[in-house]
Amino acid sequence: MKTTPIDETHGAALRSWVESAHAPGTDFPIQNLPFGVFRTSGTESNRIGVAIGEFVLDLRACLERSLLTGMPTRILAACGESTLNALMACPDIERRALRHRLSHLLRAEGAQVTAKPHAAEVLVPQREARMALPARISDYTDFYASIDHATNVGSMMRPDNPLLPNYKWVPIGYHGRSSSIVVSGTPVRRPSGQIDPSAAGQPPHFEPSKLLDYELEMGIFIAEGNELGTPVPVTEAGAKIFGLCLLNDWSARDIQKWEYQPLGPFLSKNFATSISPWVVTAEALAPFRVAAFHRPEGDPAPLPHLKSAQDQALGGFDLNLEVSLSTRAMRSHGHAPVRLSRSNVASLYWTPAQMIAHHTSGGCNLNPGDLLGTGTVSGKTKESRGCLLELTMRGKDRLALPGGETRAFLEDGDEITFTASCEREGFARIGFGECRGVVIG
Ligand code: MN
Repeated sequence: MKTTPIDETHGAALRSWVESAHAPGTDFPIQNLPFGVFRTSGTESNRIGVAIGEFVLDLRACLERSLLTGMPTRILAACGESTLNALMACPDIERRALRHRLSHLLRAEGAQVTAKPHAAEVLVPQREARMALPARISDYTDFYASIDHATNVGSMMRPDNPLLPNYKWVPIGYHGRSSSIVVSGTPVRRPSGQIDPSAAGQPPHFEPSKLLDYELEMGIFIAEGNELGTPVPVTEAGAKIFGLCLLNDWSARDIQKWEYQPLGPFLSKNFATSISPWVVTAEALAPFRVAAFHRPEGDPAPLPHLKSAQDQALGGFDLNLEVSLSTRAMRSHGHAPVRLSRSNVASLYWTPAQMIAHHTSGGCNLNPGDLLGTGTVSGKTKESRGCLLELTMRGKDRLALPGGETRAFLEDGDEITFTASCEREGFARIGFGECRGVVIG
């Protein structure tokens, strides 16, 4: 497997002439350089931007000022597009060249080319940028890669046998719906659907979901795809990752319970999926790669098509995730959002490369801009459970909130926010911005 190198663009000492890129706790220092799509009141169409401190670097404005001259032709064309798909389709060596150029344009010292004299024309304050979906997402697949999530959920249905026999052999997933993927900030309407009949023999009701939940996940955007009929070997699957974003797989548990057998979730999850607008690239994440999940003795080794030494050594991501809730009453009384849980992507049983190798192993083709979800990222402790179904044990264990409210599942007006960051000694902390959505009735 090719690994993305750690290079001078990751140097902790690197400084930007954009002062806010050094604010303590910023998600967007010069070592990050995530891509997104935005527009402002002054632009007629969507443009590609790069987050730096409190600003967006406008790539079309950079093109117009010849700041990207010398880049490969495909990169130049891709930077003028209004989605990231063409950029995602560029070979990784060319995308890496763009990262180096962007780093130079924004660095304070030793730059070969700088954007500083053009700051007023190429920088847009993030508060003035309306973010859009970063890519045209043709296909979306959601996995179930957290063994702790699978065990917690399974134990509610099958206390004696929480994990199904396939779990440690095959990365479980389902084909999701791309048309209802929305960017952070888009309100999410509570779905109505057929709800589990309360007593055996009773007919189901069609009514608004009462058990609305979030799922704390990461999204993985695919870079170069593969031809139909040509599987991606696990040794090459890591290079198919363009970057990661936050993903909320909103789920209606009552609809899900009634409909999921025998073909899996359907309307319980296709009414909305929220993602964060900034895609943090595989290049930016290079310093935060860690070993794949350490399988305890007694667990089977992955089958050969899902196992490579490189992926086992560095296929994981040390990436901290956090979810917080703010209810309408909390906001009106001035209470800050309350943190519900924290978890880490390194605890997933399957690596993203294994998900990609598995997805394509029967010949299925992936395309640039396709999105994979990791599945709910939960950990071993109660504080690391990534959805309300687990946190409240399907509503039995209600959460106490500031101001005296309690929650089993989400109520109208509740706002859920995900954040994520990577930290490692000797490297700059990088973050993902946020994925936010308020429930409306
Ligand atoms: Mn999910």
